[in-house]
Amino acid sequence: MRVGVLGGGQLARMLALAGYPLGLRFTVLDPAPDACAFPLGEPLVGSYDDRELLARLAAASDVVTYEFENVSAASAAFLAERVPVYPPPQALAHTQDRLTEKRLFEALDIPTAAFAPIAGPADLSPVAARLGLPLVLKTRTSGYDGKGQRVVREQAQLATAWDALGRVPLLAEQWVPFARELSLIAVRGRDGATVCYPLAKNTHREGILRVSIARPDEPLFATAREHVLRLLERLDYVGVLAVEFFQQGDGLLANEYAPRVHNSGHWTIEGAQTSQFENHLRAIAGLPLGATDALGAVAMVNCIGAMPAADAVLAIGGAHLHNYGKAARPGRKVGHVTLRAADDAALREPLNRVCALLGEPLPD
Ligand code: AMP
Repeated sequence: MRVGVLGGGQLARMLALAGYPLGLRFTVLDPAPDACAFPLGEPLVGSYDDRELLARLAAASDVVTYEFENVSAASAAFLAERVPVYPPPQALAHTQDRLTEKRLFEALDIPTAAFAPIAGPADLSPVAARLGLPLVLKTRTSGYDGKGQRVVREQAQLATAWDALGRVPLLAEQWVPFARELSLIAVRGRDGATVCYPLAKNTHREGILRVSIARPDEPLFATAREHVLRLLERLDYVGVLAVEFFQQGDGLLANEYAPRVHNSGHWTIEGAQTSQFENHLRAIAGLPLGATDALGAVAMVNCIGAMPAADAVLAIGGAHLHNYGKAARPGRKVGHVTLRAADDAALREPLNRVCALLGEPLPD
């Protein structure tokens, strides 16, 4: 079976690495000639909106998937007329606009931070008065890794934030003084069978995920699972989906969802019975899903900007190194390290060493 992938970054690369043992082969479309997934599949270099290339991708593939959510609705529809596309394009449509996404959570009774749309500068003060300060202002479209957002602490900062964000339609959200950030990764097969990984506890810095730690015994798992199952059903979803939550008190507030494999699930490669990448492929290929149990205590630390020395990482017991083969650049995700240990106590020392090596603060 041939899988077509829109996007040739590290997520596509790890999908291909998981797919080869299953006998799957890959065709990858990306505008960058040096996309890091290209060595793992048949490359198609060009725009995601190039009809000729999309037609070639569809013709070469038994099923098409994607590694990022900003695939245009027109391209997704064009492909879906020619080949099965999973996750379903409607899952893309809902997450491309932060307002539509929040309204979907609301319609499904999935709690979120209080929010309101900002259509123009005249909405800023009334919305700030209604929601209270601090507020987070986010561009409705095209935001990722903390880009396209500003925290506003005083009324006087509203106009500056509006200018800085490019005078475009915004979503205003109440600032959540969260205790932790958690994400749930779920997988739904073509037949509707659904499995969930344990919750991951995530630490971000400068809007970029730094560390994820699997939390197999997390009491909030059942609540998170209920929320995510409602979302999967509503979207008639097939594949891996990740939902990011804020924990406030004993409750969860959904922040956003990603209709794809997710950075906070990279720990599953060595740390779970079946990785998120393999399970995504199993789901879209119509194969039975694999078990999602964690294999002990597991953590993942991202390599941001540049790779550490391989010998230094691999000298740490239980460490596995993933180098995506990308050029070094500030703020860029170029690799990650996964750590596996017998239990939380045994994980602590190697996790401290990896964080020190990668310049990340130690997670609590
Ligand atoms: P996002 O682009 O929505 O994933 O936001 C990136 C990061 O900004 C999140 O992982 C949080 O750490 C922080 N953040 C976003 N929205 C809020 C909020 N309403 N309250 C507090 N922190 C937030």
